[in-house]
Amino acid sequence: MPQLNNVLDILKLLDKSNCKKCGEATCMAFAASVHKGENELKACPNLEDDVIKMFGDGVQKRKDPDEDTLEAMDRLKREVAETDLDQAAIRAGGKFRDNRLTLKILGKDFSVDTDGNLFSDIHINPWVAGPFLRYVLHAKGTVPSGNWIPFRELKGGKEWQGLFGQQCEKPIKSLADKYSGLFEDILNIFSGRQVDRHYASDISLVLHPLPKVPVLICYWKPEDGMDSDLKLFFDATTEDNLSIESVYTLCTGMAKMFEKIVRNHV
Ligand code: SF4
Repeated sequence: MPQLNNVLDILKLLDKSNCKKCGEATCMAFAASVHKGENELKACPNLEDDVIKMFGDGVQKRKDPDEDTLEAMDRLKREVAETDLDQAAIRAGGKFRDNRLTLKILGKDFSVDTDGNLFSDIHINPWVAGPFLRYVLHAKGTVPSGNWIPFRELKGGKEWQGLFGQQCEKPIKSLADKYSGLFEDILNIFSGRQVDRHYASDISLVLHPLPKVPVLICYWKPEDGMDSDLKLFFDATTEDNLSIESVYTLCTGMAKMFEKIVRNHV
């Protein structure tokens, strides 16, 4: 029986109509619940019987998330230990010195040594450590073009868009709505750069969660009875340097970090 190894494998089988007949709000939420073992494929009435028969219980259930993360980190560290970090530093836009590759993450130093050990002045969260190591290992080194595109236009972005909106753009928008100093703090604490207003937004600023993965945040204030809005844009070259899954992890982690800042102010 073929195996479905992750949420995206499951999502690919669904028609993505978000019809809610399964009781979940979206097909992505249904796929995640099947992956967690909380639901079965047959709960989606839009799936053909032969697809259900083919995969049936061939769904690889998610393990304990902490265990999963630790295993993934160990794998990545072993891969890094077999990588030429001197060359990787050139591709990644970092420096290699004293057996350590160092990159700037949101303006702060983040390093990995030739044994795969991580060092940083900031807290080493899995949301930053995983994408950092994947970037070191797989970034092609393409220089950003300055051509901004929305998340959904990145390779694989359509499938992740719903979750990305929920877990990243929406929480940052609510923070910006209730704490007017958010963007100033982001500029000061994370070496952000205010840029010309894009897409007629009221605030546009660029952050570098990784040297060759810039993120443009645009915020539109509420006006004339219209609600505020916030969108993140990415350089069109992003997919050369970071996979969509890592972009998602990195940005949802940033949203959580911004939440912490706001908690300290309100
Ligand atoms: S019933 Fe199927 S198609 Fe409809 S939302 Fe659920 S998973 Fe998606």
